Amino acid sequence: MAFEGLSERLQQTIQKIKGKGKVTEQDVKEMTREVRLALLEADVNFKVVKDFIKRIKERAVGQEVMESLTPGQQVIKVVKEELTALMGGEQSKIAVADRPPTVIMMVGLQGAGKTTTTGKLANLLRKKYNRNPMLVAADVYRPAAINQLQTLGKQLNMPVFSLGTEANPVDIAAKAVEEAKREHNDYVIVDTAGRLHVDNDLMDELQQIKASVNPDEIFLVVDAMTGQDAVNVAESFNDQLDLTGVVLTKLDGDTRGGAALSIKAVTDKPIKFAGMGEKLDELEDFHPERMASRILGMGDMLSLIEKAQENVDEKRVKELEQKMRSASFTFDDFLEQMGQVKNMGPLEDIIGMLPGANKMKGLKNIQFDEKQLVHVEAIIQSMTKKERQEPSIINANRKKRIAKGSGRTVSEVNRLLKQFEEMKKMMKQMSNMQKGKKGKGFNF
Ligand code: GDP
Repeated sequence: MAFEGLSERLQQTIQKIKGKGKVTEQDVKEMTREVRLALLEADVNFKVVKDFIKRIKERAVGQEVMESLTPGQQVIKVVKEELTALMGGEQSKIAVADRPPTVIMMVGLQGAGKTTTTGKLANLLRKKYNRNPMLVAADVYRPAAINQLQTLGKQLNMPVFSLGTEANPVDIAAKAVEEAKREHNDYVIVDTAGRLHVDNDLMDELQQIKASVNPDEIFLVVDAMTGQDAVNVAESFNDQLDLTGVVLTKLDGDTRGGAALSIKAVTDKPIKFAGMGEKLDELEDFHPERMASRILGMGDMLSLIEKAQENVDEKRVKELEQKMRSASFTFDDFLEQMGQVKNMGPLEDIIGMLPGANKMKGLKNIQFDEKQLVHVEAIIQSMTKKERQEPSIINANRKKRIAKGSGRTVSEVNRLLKQFEEMKKMMKQMSNMQKGKKGKGFNF
């Protein structure tokens, strides 16, 4: 996961100061020294680190006093606020043009994830903001880029504007905007050409496109894995094009975090979105505060809740919960519930958003094996309707049949049956306790 090293080191540092009822200047000095090293190791720009530490020192020593917090907690609050400010403070929202369409120009080096992000952004705009985007293939130097965008357009069922590889990218962009007006597409996302390095020809072309379509947003797509290089690339694109924002891709990889923590400070342009995987729904709004919270191991409950709201049918979840409490919960319900959880994305990511998750030793090293879930699904799917409703009828013969049908072993079938029974028992006890009855196994 991204930021793992940084996160671990900062949390160790925080742990030392957290419970202190009195924080001396020496404590602050030691803490900032450790924070400084952690940031440098995470490949954060050294000047950015220097300013950051200076601000923390000033604020932590001349502490604002809040009664509800211990001095140690107050220092942590300062660190979190400064980390948030470093990444841009408030979340930066995407522009909406007064007169549609809103034009977004996507720029960046080859391989950064520009084309993929064009598709993801269109998907996000539709899913979250109810928009109707058009994609524009203005990278005429790589025929594959046009095909790639057309494939994404097909997957998303969205229009892709292309004039092939012979046309001029400036014309393509201008004509696309006209077409979007006619077709009532409220966002136009222009995928421009990339190069392996920043070069003058590329910049000239991008400047011409900019002059021609006057975009509302110019997003630079940078690969977070490239660390300080990403920051240098951002600086030169910003000098030439005056970007409006940055999209950091590949934050799902084990990036050390330097780019995320330096880009805003170096370019003064906000990070607007974060790419969290290769799939079309793996682009998130970038929230500096939530990211700071995640890095400091305080969890990111807000993103978790939003993810749940976007992907889970709340009414159905309530019904399932009700069923669990009344002990009428069956394997069919279980299957459905697993589907709801799966919609939210990889389990590892979900766990990572829970507060303190990376402190729980047991959790930390578990590689969540999504295959296990597939196995469980296969076992349940091999049961008959009646068996799913009434697992108690599953005798040895039936177990053998289920194991064979799902390609699993009988002991795996046994394990699932046992787990299911235990879960039901626990639910029943919890619900009894809530009703004020005396629970059998639970003594708090
Ligand atoms: P372009 O040359 O900038 O248009 O880059 P592409 O869109 O073709 O992406 C290059 C590679 O990066 C592809 O294999 C993408 O699937 C991958 N990629 C893009 N964004 C992400 C991301 O957020 N996470 C991961 N893991 N891979 C990504």
